[in-house]
Amino acid sequence: MSLIPKKISWKVFLLWLGALVFGVAVVYGAGYWVGLIATRDLSIVGQERLSLYQGTLRSALEKHRYLPFVLSRDEGIKKLLSENDGRGGVAIAVNRSLRATNQKAESDVLYVLNSKGTTLAASNWLEDRSFVGHNYAFRPYYKDAIEGRESGFFAVGATTGVPGYFMSHAVHDKTGVRGVIVAKVDMRPLQRQWHDGGEHVFVTDENGVVFLSSRDDWRYRTISPVDDVALANIRGNRQFGGAELLPLNLRLHKVFNGDVFEVGGQKYLALKRNTGKPGWVMHFLTPLNLVEEKQRTAWIIGAVLLTLVFMGSLFLRERREKLRSAQRARQADRFQIINKKLQLEIDERKRTETQLLKTQEDLVQTGKLAALGQMSTAIAHEINQPMAAIRTFAASARLLLAKGKKESVKESLVEISSLTERMSNITGELKSFAQKAPVEYHEVDLREALNNAINLMETVWKPGEIKLHYQDLGASVFVKGDLVRLEQVFVNLLRNAADAMEGQREKKISVYLRHIDQLAIVIVEDNGTGIDPKNKDQIFDPFFTTKEVGKGVGLGLSISYGIIQDFGGSIRVENTEKAGARFIVEFEAVVPSSALAL
Ligand code: ADP
Repeated sequence: MSLIPKKISWKVFLLWLGALVFGVAVVYGAGYWVGLIATRDLSIVGQERLSLYQGTLRSALEKHRYLPFVLSRDEGIKKLLSENDGRGGVAIAVNRSLRATNQKAESDVLYVLNSKGTTLAASNWLEDRSFVGHNYAFRPYYKDAIEGRESGFFAVGATTGVPGYFMSHAVHDKTGVRGVIVAKVDMRPLQRQWHDGGEHVFVTDENGVVFLSSRDDWRYRTISPVDDVALANIRGNRQFGGAELLPLNLRLHKVFNGDVFEVGGQKYLALKRNTGKPGWVMHFLTPLNLVEEKQRTAWIIGAVLLTLVFMGSLFLRERREKLRSAQRARQADRFQIINKKLQLEIDERKRTETQLLKTQEDLVQTGKLAALGQMSTAIAHEINQPMAAIRTFAASARLLLAKGKKESVKESLVEISSLTERMSNITGELKSFAQKAPVEYHEVDLREALNNAINLMETVWKPGEIKLHYQDLGASVFVKGDLVRLEQVFVNLLRNAADAMEGQREKKISVYLRHIDQLAIVIVEDNGTGIDPKNKDQIFDPFFTTKEVGKGVGLGLSISYGIIQDFGGSIRVENTEKAGARFIVEFEAVVPSSALAL
C-alpha cells in the first residue's frame, strides 16, 4: 500500500496541511498543559517542603535564643566582667559553668566578651581552639549587643572555622554595658539533616550569599553579584572566613509561570520564602526532570496518536480511492458488457436488416412475378383486341378495295395504323419498365419538354374535346435531365388527366409552368374524378390501375416517378379544391452553361 496519495488537488493538500498544523498545535498544547499541571503539582509539594525546612531552621535557631539573655543575668559572669580578668579564679568558675551549660543546652560554644570584645571566659576554654583571649570586636553581634540590639549573625568561626549562628546579649550593671554574652549554634547538623534528605534546599543572606545548603558545593557561593561595599563589609567582619564567594553558574528563567534555576545543565523549579530573619531567604529547588519527562511523554504519545490518525486518514483515503476505482472498474466492465451486447444487437440488427432487404427484394421479385402473370393477361387482352380489330379492318379494307371504295380503305388503313401505334405504345411501356434506361443528364429546357408533350396530346385528342388552359412561363427554365423522358412524363400526366375525365361533359386540363427561386415547377390539374383517398398511396406503384382491363396497365405513373427521381426531382399528387387531381412536379432549376459562358 502506498501511503502517498497519487494525485491530490491544491485544495485537498492545503486541507491536509491545515489539519496537520492543527494536530501539531494540539499535541504541543497538550504537552504544554501537562507541563503546566506537573509544575503546579511540583510547586504545591515544594511549598510544603519549604514550610518543613523553614520549621527545622526556626527550631534550630530558636532553641538557643534564650541562652545569651539568661547568662547575661548570671552573677558570676557579672563579677568576672567587673574584675575584667580572664585568668583569675572567677574566670575558671565561669568557664566551668559555661562548659556545663553548653553541654546541657547542646549549643556549640558559649562565651563572655568584655566591653572591648575580648573573650574572658568560654565553654571551650580547655580546647585547643579556645576563644579565651581572642578579640571579636569586629563581629557585628558584638557591636549590636554593645549598642543594645539583640543580634543574630551567621558566620564561619574565626577561630574554629566551624560555621554557626551567633546570638548575643549585652551584660549591664549600674555603670552601663560591661560585656557581651555570645552563644554560637553549630549549623552543620541541620545542614547534614538537609543533605541526608537528598533534596536541594539552601538559605541566602541579604547579599545573596548561600550560607546554609544541603549541597556542599553550593555553600558560600552567591546567587547574585555582591557589590563592592557589601564585599568589603563581609571581608571586614570575616563572616565567611576566607571563602571566595564565587557566583554560582546560574541561569534564571521562567517556565510555566515558575522560576527556574539552571545550574550545571540541570533545571530546577525554584521556590523561595522569607525565613523571618532579616535578609534571609530560603530556597527549595525541585529538579524539573519529572516535568520535562511528563511533558516529553505527553508529546510522544500525542505525536504517536497524531501519526496514527494521519496514517489512518491516509489509509482510509487510500481505501476509499481503491473502493472507488474498483467501483469504476466494475462500472467499466459493466459498460463493456453492455457495449458488447449492444454491438451484438447491432450486428444482429444488421443481419436482420440484410435479411429483411433480401426478403423484401424476394418479395418484390415475387410481386413482380405475380404482377407479370396479371400483366400477361392484360397484355394479351390489350394486344388481342387491337389485333382482332386490325384483322377486321384489314378484311374490310380488302372488301372495300375490291369494291373500289378507296376512300373508305384509307380510313381503315388509318385505323389500322392507330391500332398498331397503340400496340407499340403498350410494348414500349413494358420495355421501359423492364429495362431501366441508363440515366443521362443534359441541360434540358423543361418548357420545351412540356410544350412538346402538350402538342403531342393535342393531336391525339379530338378537337374541342378538352379545354386546355396552359399558363406558360414565357421563358425557358433549365433542369438536368433527358428531353424525351421528360416528355414521356408529361404525356403520361396529360393522358391520365384526360382518362380521368372520360364520360364527362366538360373536360378541362390546366397546366402551369413556374420558376420560383431554385425550383422549376410543372402542375397538371384536371376536373376529373380525383384520386380516391384509399388509393393515394398506391398510385405510383407499378401495375396499380383503376382502369378497366385493356385501358391501362398501371405503369405510367410508376415509370414517371422513376424518371423524375432519376433527375433529382419529385412528384406528388393532391386532389383539387373542386374535383379532380393535381400533379405537382418539381425539379432543381439550373443555370445553363451557355448562359454561364456569357
Ligand atoms: P394507368 O394509367 O395505366 O392506370 P398509371 O400509373 O398512369 O396507370 O395510373 C395509375 C392510376 O392512377 C390510374 O389507374 C388512376 O386510377 C390513377 N390516376 C392517374 N392519374 C389520375 C388522374 N389525373 N385523375 C384520377 N386518377 C388518376
